[in-house]
Amino acid sequence: METHQIYNYMERINNLLRTDSRQKIVEYGLQPIQLEALHYLSICNKYSDTPKAVTEYLGQTKGTTSQTLNVLEKKKYLIKQSDESDKRVTHLKVTSLGLEILEECIPTPKFINACEQLSENTQTEVTEALNKLLSSFIKTNDLQSFGVCHSCRFHQVNKDNDYFCGLVKESIPMGEITKICREHEAIS
Ligand code: SF4
Repeated sequence: METHQIYNYMERINNLLRTDSRQKIVEYGLQPIQLEALHYLSICNKYSDTPKAVTEYLGQTKGTTSQTLNVLEKKKYLIKQSDESDKRVTHLKVTSLGLEILEECIPTPKFINACEQLSENTQTEVTEALNKLLSSFIKTNDLQSFGVCHSCRFHQVNKDNDYFCGLVKESIPMGEITKICREHEAIS
């Protein structure tokens, strides 16, 4: 079994990524968890950009997430918007300033350099292997998948070739289809 070796590699890569990222984000006065929250909000769809979803994704407490979001709002990296049909729901939108920071920090420059040294084939193999590992982690531990529409059991394509979500019963715009979703359920 390679479990320990895989874990050791993952831990070392995670450690290198955090160190690299920390050096960069210090310039913006951010903590790693604040950058993670901002990154999540830049890649999630409109059903998933709420404080509750950020809490679930990051595995933080409600209070810690709230503090994180307040810092990001204060720095004008995100804005809060009330839902049009349900004023009790707040959506969190990354501002252009927030997107600029993400562009600078994610992926980190050292990680980009490392990936660019790998051939296209190797990059594909690594992507597939990590995807398998992530899927197994989620499935075997019954965790929320936070996947994208094409791998979701609610994803439908109607007769006009438009994408439709069978769960929320709404059309999914093209730009939303590749974003991660807190309602995602993998096709079994
Ligand atoms: S199809 Fe699945 S992933 Fe896409 S919006 Fe609906 S629930 Fe979310």
